[in-house]
Amino acid sequence: MLPIFTMVLLALNGHPIDRSQPQPPPIVSVFCYHHVQPRPDNYIALTPRLFEAQLQRLQREHIPTLAAPEIPAWLANPRNRGKRAACLTFDDGNITIRTRAWPLLRRYGATATLFIHPGGIGTKGKMTWAQLGEMARAGVDIQCHGMTHESLLRGPRETDRAFAARMERELGVAKRRLEHFTGRTVTAFAFPFGWHEAAHLPLLRRLG
Ligand SMILES: [Zn+2]
Repeated sequence: MLPIFTMVLLALNGHPIDRSQPQPPPIVSVFCYHHVQPRPDNYIALTPRLFEAQLQRLQREHIPTLAAPEIPAWLANPRNRGKRAACLTFDDGNITIRTRAWPLLRRYGATATLFIHPGGIGTKGKMTWAQLGEMARAGVDIQCHGMTHESLLRGPRETDRAFAARMERELGVAKRRLEHFTGRTVTAFAFPFGWHEAAHLPLLRRLG
């Protein structure tokens, strides 16, 4: 919309339209949320009011929301040059994502990706499998955040064999558990605490 509007304005102003200028590359801003609470009690929480203001701004500026697996194709599509999109991600399966964020996401027609570690589901402060299933069936994208949410970095005394077995559980078993639960392929992974090392990449590639 913006380019057409801009072209009309340029035409009205009598300036030549320079078609040789290429559009800038498309941009996806990835937002990483954890808790949506009326009274935030930690530094990774925001209020429902602030979250709603962010959704309103995306709507006002006609910025579409994408699930994480949609990002590569959206960026590669030449029709999206010069455009912006947002990817709203929620880590850890916290209950406030279900109770506070999801109603707002639905109100504004926004899509989201949840990075879930299956070991945490149903524990204190987290949503239950039933609540997660409800969101998944409604179209919320579910991706993997490890199994236990422990660091995936190799321990100083961890043997090759122990590390391989732990990664199989944290990356492979967790992914398959989520796929079995949602019936959809899991193709994105968020590292707990953002901590990762080179050894993880071939493992993740092999798992798909
Ligand atoms: Zn996390």
